[in-house]
Amino acid sequence: MPGFVFSEKPIRLVRGDGPYLYDDAEKEYLDAGASYACVPLGHRHPGVRRAIDDQLDRLTYVQGSYPVTSRTELYDLLAEVAPGDLDYVWLCNSGTEANEAAIKFARHATGRSEVVAAVRGFHGRTMGALAATWSQEYKQGFEPLAGGVSFVPYNDSEALTDAVSAETAAVILEPIQGEGGVNPASVEYLEAARDLTADAGAALVLDEVQCGLGRTGRMWACEKSGVVPDVLTSAKGLANGFPVGATIVREWVAQNAGSHGGTFSGGPVMCAAAVETVRTIRDTDLPAHAADVGGYLRGRLEQELGDVVREVRGAGLMVGVEVKTGATTAARDLALDQHVLVIPTGRTVLRYLPPLTIEREHADRLVDATVAVADHLTV
Ligand code: PLP
Repeated sequence: MPGFVFSEKPIRLVRGDGPYLYDDAEKEYLDAGASYACVPLGHRHPGVRRAIDDQLDRLTYVQGSYPVTSRTELYDLLAEVAPGDLDYVWLCNSGTEANEAAIKFARHATGRSEVVAAVRGFHGRTMGALAATWSQEYKQGFEPLAGGVSFVPYNDSEALTDAVSAETAAVILEPIQGEGGVNPASVEYLEAARDLTADAGAALVLDEVQCGLGRTGRMWACEKSGVVPDVLTSAKGLANGFPVGATIVREWVAQNAGSHGGTFSGGPVMCAAAVETVRTIRDTDLPAHAADVGGYLRGRLEQELGDVVREVRGAGLMVGVEVKTGATTAARDLALDQHVLVIPTGRTVLRYLPPLTIEREHADRLVDATVAVADHLTV
């Protein structure tokens, strides 16, 4: 009997519109996880659909060594919105590939092979990115992975100081850990990471696959610290639901990028979707909107849940609610009873990553739904 590798949820979603999804009985769900942060503009966005249609009308695919307009536009746009002198772009199809390239580029540029990563960090599931991912849960049965990775406690500058050496090719960190439980890095920690890697001649890789693209109230989460990495990775929401990843690097990394490549790197249709997505985020100032609605959401969650939860944390519309246990049950009840889709991480964190376009009324619905399942948050 043919079957699926993954277990599936008992809801058959057939249609999306803005922040809402609809099942096969036309029941409406608020997509408060934005399908893993992949639809920052919401579902079925008219601009993205138009951009894809226009590109499909002209050219679906051509071998990557020929320049195509949508890819050139995306290169320019990403260089423009990326912080500092991150001006060179490698395109791929996913977050893990973006990080895989980051690690390869750092190795090639430095001539070294060691990578320092953080406890609770998540960078993807291919052999290099998985090696830099902390949780054993994802690695079991797949080892040996790429070697030379050591892990240090997150937000601990002293531990990082001890770990970085003349053998270090890269330090890889998420400015806000997503899968690890919505843990923001302190400004001091990112500054220390910047100084240490610069002094050691290593690359600082910041993984913004989940926290980037306006979600935290700035185009990039690292902008809060003023730290400009050597490599910035992006994916998930980059093309509003279509598979595009990007590794954006400084010149010294780009010049030594070696022979890395990929057949579908920067396909014209996906690039057209990504250009429209990034332009819309920038031109309609969705980062400021995310800061406003996210601040409102966090404030109301804190107020309404009070002592029921340990902490409400995050930035903009990347919000984690730390509970005692029961996050998985609460997420299930939110979906099945309240028709609100959120993403738990582990047993103790409920994660909200809604489309950046939601308004306060959607935030209110999220809060009311969470309060309705609060019974489960303490068990
Ligand atoms: N990096 C971070 C921070 C992520 O959250 C994820 C996915 O959750 C990845 C990398 C991997 O991305 P993908 O699933 O597109 O390979």
